[in-house]
Amino acid sequence: MSTFLSRQDPELASLLNHELKRQQFSIELIPSENIVSPAVLEALGSVLTNKYSEGYPGARYYAGNAHIDEIERLAVSRAKALFGVDHVNIQPYSGSGANFAVYNALLEPGDTILAMGLPFGGHLTHGWKVSATGKYFRAVHYPTGKDGRIDYEMVAELALKEKPKLIVCGASAYPRMIDFKHFREIADSVHAYLMADIAHIAGLVVGGVHPSPVPYADVITTTLHKTLRGPRGAMIMCREELAAKIDKSIFPGLQGGPHNHVTAAAAVAFKEAATDEFRAYTQQVVTNASALAQTLIDSGFPLVSGGTDNHLMLLDLSEKSLTGKDAEDILADCSISTNKNMIPNDPRTPMNPSGIRIGTPLITSRGFTAKDSVTLGVVISSLLRTPESEEVRAWAKSEVRTLCEAHPIYGTLSY
Ligand SMILES: *Cc1c(COP(=O)(O)O)cnc(C)c1O
Repeated sequence: MSTFLSRQDPELASLLNHELKRQQFSIELIPSENIVSPAVLEALGSVLTNKYSEGYPGARYYAGNAHIDEIERLAVSRAKALFGVDHVNIQPYSGSGANFAVYNALLEPGDTILAMGLPFGGHLTHGWKVSATGKYFRAVHYPTGKDGRIDYEMVAELALKEKPKLIVCGASAYPRMIDFKHFREIADSVHAYLMADIAHIAGLVVGGVHPSPVPYADVITTTLHKTLRGPRGAMIMCREELAAKIDKSIFPGLQGGPHNHVTAAAAVAFKEAATDEFRAYTQQVVTNASALAQTLIDSGFPLVSGGTDNHLMLLDLSEKSLTGKDAEDILADCSISTNKNMIPNDPRTPMNPSGIRIGTPLITSRGFTAKDSVTLGVVISSLLRTPESEEVRAWAKSEVRTLCEAHPIYGTLSY
């Protein structure tokens, strides 16, 4: 098929077609990834990318924003209804910037943040050393307990000792539910703000399969592109009292013009997320994760914390002869994408850690069932048990092909 792109820039069109094929014929188990609907994709590729609109609806620094204002208002009102919050800022370019914007709004440089440590499942932007959030703020990190779960008593003690001005809850590699009410009590005990970063679990919260932080957190940040199945981007939700501070921190504090094509795509994704189909989707994400987790455990591969309550799991390879990097490479060779990850108290290094992180949001969007997830678990465990076997590898590749063909994506698309 001839497209504008294929006529004008065949070199780039060819690269896009290769990536499209890769997505169609590989099994993506990276828990932060998902696929958007063709409608979201269309909004992303729209003429809205042409427009400058620094400011907020009704108060822009450029002319010609009547329709952009309506689009941003629509996205914001849908997000408010979806999460049941007072205020939404839909302009953050991505999750990292959204988190920095919250700190910038509520803290002074050098103020203390208390958050989960990166090696225990936290995110770089929760004050880790190599992130600007760790450079401008004093971060104190809590580990998880021996059972791989948050030890709320330990967090409470650290809070009392360190007197943080803001406590972050939320994670990138934590397979269990987060008790937001407990975090609220800890924050109250030291008069700290509570920020919930639900980048990974936003879709699960909307679908009702993970408790919501809305009754408890002062501020909530989330990406749009993980379980929420929207475009790459982020938003900040808060109570009305903090709205002006948050908005000012995003613009003019940290950003210029909002990415209006992303705002429009987010509005589409929010409409999709408000449906019964999306609720069923999030339920299936959790069902698939449980099925995959149980299959791996039964095949002799222990998981951090012994299992999962949400969309992701961490394979603990510390007792095995292969590392997380080895496992990532072995699976990638059969078109199964996972990512190497530190496990709690990892004896190895970040570039060659002892775990891999696996999640089911994307395969569930493709229509994978619990039965498919069990098949996948058998394929993964067989590959990791006998990585040198040509026979197993050939069989695994054909299973991957069969699963991908049974659950096609973007059937009519080409560049
Ligand atoms: C993914 C993630 C982010 C950052 O999002 P980007 O869009 O990659 O900047 C922030 N916090 C958590 C917990 C995340 O998982």
